[in-house]
Amino acid sequence: SRRQAVAAWTGPGSTADGHPVPLLANVADGSSARDAAAAGQVEGVGLFRTELCFLDRREEPTVAEQADVYAEVLTPFAGRGHVVVRTLDAGSDKPIAFATHEGEENPALGVRGLRLAADNPGLLERQLDAIAIAAERTGADTWVMAPMVATVQEAADFAALVRARGLKPGVMIEVPAAALMAHRMLEVVDFLSIGTNDLTQYAMAADRLATDLAHLTDPWQPAVLQLIAITAEAGRRAGKPVGICGEAAADPLLAPVLVGLGITSLSMAPAAVPAVGARLESVTAGLCDEAAEAALGALSPQQGREAVTKILG
Ligand code: PEP
Ligand code: MG
Repeated sequence: SRRQAVAAWTGPGSTADGHPVPLLANVADGSSARDAAAAGQVEGVGLFRTELCFLDRREEPTVAEQADVYAEVLTPFAGRGHVVVRTLDAGSDKPIAFATHEGEENPALGVRGLRLAADNPGLLERQLDAIAIAAERTGADTWVMAPMVATVQEAADFAALVRARGLKPGVMIEVPAAALMAHRMLEVVDFLSIGTNDLTQYAMAADRLATDLAHLTDPWQPAVLQLIAITAEAGRRAGKPVGICGEAAADPLLAPVLVGLGITSLSMAPAAVPAVGARLESVTAGLCDEAAEAALGALSPQQGREAVTKILG
């Protein structure tokens, strides 16, 4: 089996035979965090997209102001699971006025996400200071991850800044190069979270916003599942969590496949949690393993979906 061995339990978010799969929420601000916390099955936050708090801001918010915004998201989850705060993912499809790199021909392949830190001295450090203040104030179990990481050196530099503030560092796996180096990434960080929206875009060389390329920007593409399998295997060997926080986590048919590939948590829009939870409760871990092998062995998303539907019934 490709799954990580974990103690059986029967809490919310598990297979029929008790293999745990924490179901986490993707949130954008305090109000979406409070809504997510009010929903029973949600066991924490797997992705807090901090840049969405500042879409309308022309100037960088002060550290104190940022700390207040982050504390609003952390508060509803203090003492309840953990919260993964993602540092600013500006650029490309998420333009932020105070953190842009102008005039790029190809912004999706340009200075975005963690790469902006080099362009804007102090921006990342101030955000990490604010996250640390909010974590201290609320007592929430706060993890911090960087978007758009391509190299182990980037992960190591980021992890040092996060650890210096007493927080738990991780990186997103969104670039195929990072997936292939997942085992080395885990020598410097405590967890990985796969952003399947971007990982699919970069693996398939297909713009995630291009509707006419939807057949390529599909996480059921076997090449994407291979990259997920490599990343999960690295986590299993290191004994460290590897979650998914892209749209793929919200697909109830894909969830058993991801569990079978060794993914340890799924983070999604809160509205998707009941259907994904119900699907997982209806299958055994052994069926998840079978579904994973079938999807990996398929030659197309359609073939994968058909094979998995047949297995899961
Ligand atoms: C992703 O790329 O899958 C992801 C979760 O990040 P975003 O959609 O915010 O780019
Ligand atoms: Mg992304």
